[in-house]
Amino acid sequence: MLLFTPGPTPVPESVRQAMATPTLHHRTPEFEAIFKEARERLMRLFGMDECVMLASSGTGAMQSCVLNLCKKKALTINAGKFGERFGKIVTAMGKELVELKYEWNTPVSLDDVKRALEDNPDIDSLFIQISESAGGLRHPVEEIASYLKSVNPNIMVVADGITAVGVEKIDTTDIDALVAGSQKALMLPPGLAMVGLSSLAVERIGDGVDYYFNLASEIKKQRNNTTAYTAPTTLIIGLNAIFDEIEKEGLESLYSSTKARAEATQKALESIGLNIYPTKPALSMSTIIDEDAEAIRKLLKTKYGVNIAGGQDHLKGKIFRINQMGLIPVNESAWVVNAIEMALSDLGRREFDGTASRTFNTIYFNEID
Ligand SMILES: *Cc1c(COP(=O)(O)O)cnc(C)c1O
Repeated sequence: MLLFTPGPTPVPESVRQAMATPTLHHRTPEFEAIFKEARERLMRLFGMDECVMLASSGTGAMQSCVLNLCKKKALTINAGKFGERFGKIVTAMGKELVELKYEWNTPVSLDDVKRALEDNPDIDSLFIQISESAGGLRHPVEEIASYLKSVNPNIMVVADGITAVGVEKIDTTDIDALVAGSQKALMLPPGLAMVGLSSLAVERIGDGVDYYFNLASEIKKQRNNTTAYTAPTTLIIGLNAIFDEIEKEGLESLYSSTKARAEATQKALESIGLNIYPTKPALSMSTIIDEDAEAIRKLLKTKYGVNIAGGQDHLKGKIFRINQMGLIPVNESAWVVNAIEMALSDLGRREFDGTASRTFNTIYFNEID
């Protein structure tokens, strides 16, 4: 079965092998060297001066940023499950919340942010997804961040890049914290969260708050290539292995092939009459809105050996999402669009003639060479 859900993503063989080595003690020079290497590579990937690794799922890193970077009042953007989650965390952590809410196919608008800030001049932080995975939406984070910094450079801009870091080059000029998670674009098993930090964010964190998620104690330890509590050693070994794998062709090549796959998939699906759900699609996944979404998904799973994701909440049964994150062999992506065309034929919606596969290959190989 091909795993084509937008997280978790398949873990490459070389990475699984690297993680199968005997357990290392985390307080040893041997592991500290591994940690140092992973940390330096992560800072290069983020394009930021500081970073921390946390033994938690991505949500733990989101919570640590709310705790350590929002002093009083946060602005959150809810255009899907994960933006909604930031709002819930802010409230659960006892901070004030201003939430801008959108349909799951609609990106945040700068005018709404301007109005929210005028009405609430005490907003001290923004929490936003770069790629909102609920509907496969790309928010204009760079534009929003740049506006907020022009109004008040002290506003902390926290970007959830869990389905964006490793997908495209992120401009971190106006970003103070950039969150990543292991099981999405970084092709690792779940359990490791990572946060890139600006020097202003490090200053703001100061002595930090909270115990397990105290970013100040983590920064202090991790600058010395160790962690405050037991490090997820296996996942950090895996992180170096995935960097090795990415570096074979280079990061730029990962970005360009991801973009080419996402665009070729979108055009291929449109060429067989399907409709893209988000008005601004992210490159991390291809999201289709269709009344037969569940029937298509089921046929893919039972007949064509492909596992794709459906929708959640009000989009349950209405959309399906195809992963584009990671080092995906192009023949697998080509098979996915072909299988969807075959499923449409099974459902009596169109006669199969290979249009999806032809469109995919024409666009992908035109773009990539
Ligand atoms: C998956 C995901 C998360 C949550 O990560 P967990 O590892 O499940 O806690 C947060 N934000 C986005 C955009 C995601 O795709």
